[in-house]
Amino acid sequence: TTHQKVALITGANKGIGRATAEQLAALGMTVLMGARNPGRGEEAAAAVRAAGGDAYAVTLDVTDPATVQRAAGWAEERFGHLDVLVNNAGISGSGQVRPQDARDQIPSSVDLDMVRAVFETNVFGVIAVTNAMLPLLRRSPAPRIVNLSSAAGSLTVNSIPDGPLASLPASAAYSPSKSALNALTVQYANELRKDGILVNAADPGFVDTDINHHTGYLTTAQGAAIVVRLATLGADGPTGGFFGEGGPVPW
Ligand code: NDP
Repeated sequence: TTHQKVALITGANKGIGRATAEQLAALGMTVLMGARNPGRGEEAAAAVRAAGGDAYAVTLDVTDPATVQRAAGWAEERFGHLDVLVNNAGISGSGQVRPQDARDQIPSSVDLDMVRAVFETNVFGVIAVTNAMLPLLRRSPAPRIVNLSSAAGSLTVNSIPDGPLASLPASAAYSPSKSALNALTVQYANELRKDGILVNAADPGFVDTDINHHTGYLTTAQGAAIVVRLATLGADGPTGGFFGEGGPVPW
């Protein structure tokens, strides 16, 4: 029998995660669409099934260890393995605001509880989900992990005074959370290289979604393209890297 590839995408009920699930399903993978709200997850999974894909909604709040463990237990029982993990769930911390209006992220006046909440989802949630799913990924012949990062997490890009992020206010929450996610990506890649598990960070570009109040100019399908590419790397593919559609992104 052939190996049926199974992918878990966190935060797949909308935005880039949903488009990633649609594209992986179109490639023939079974997609497990994580959503913290079961109703929204089921609605998204039903849409992928209606388009001919093999999709299941799975209740998964990355900040809630009980739902993470239940999701891993269910995936093990139902499929026995996982081939792809896309750590996509993320929050800005500023609610649905235009990025240039995110003045509540300015370091000298930031609310520390907001910073904690952003790190809880964007960083600690990734560790929780990854570690819960690794035993299942180890049963895949070609496991791949993709972490949804951002150019906003690039220390290099942030350090260019007149660079592409110069119009944004300084950020003590979202940007550092993605820098930390990049750091984690390198460390997981280093640990898992010997096991053939490729771990990379994706920069989807500036995508039209709720997280930026629809100020992005790329479609969710365009943003998901690099995620899908990294989720389907061949055995000779990179690990521990940071990539956008245009190629490597500087750390
Ligand atoms: P959306 O706000 O459209 O989607 C975010 C998704 O994450 C939603 O499904 C949301 O669920 C989910 N989510 C949030 N918190 C949790 C949680 N605790 N547990 C589980 N799911 C959660 O934004 P995007 O699609 O744009 O963002 C997806 C990823 O891409 C994020 O990591 C973001 O930082 C990153 N990114 C986006 C860019 C862009 O331009 N849009 C640029 C660079 C990176 P719910 O519907 O319940 O809120």
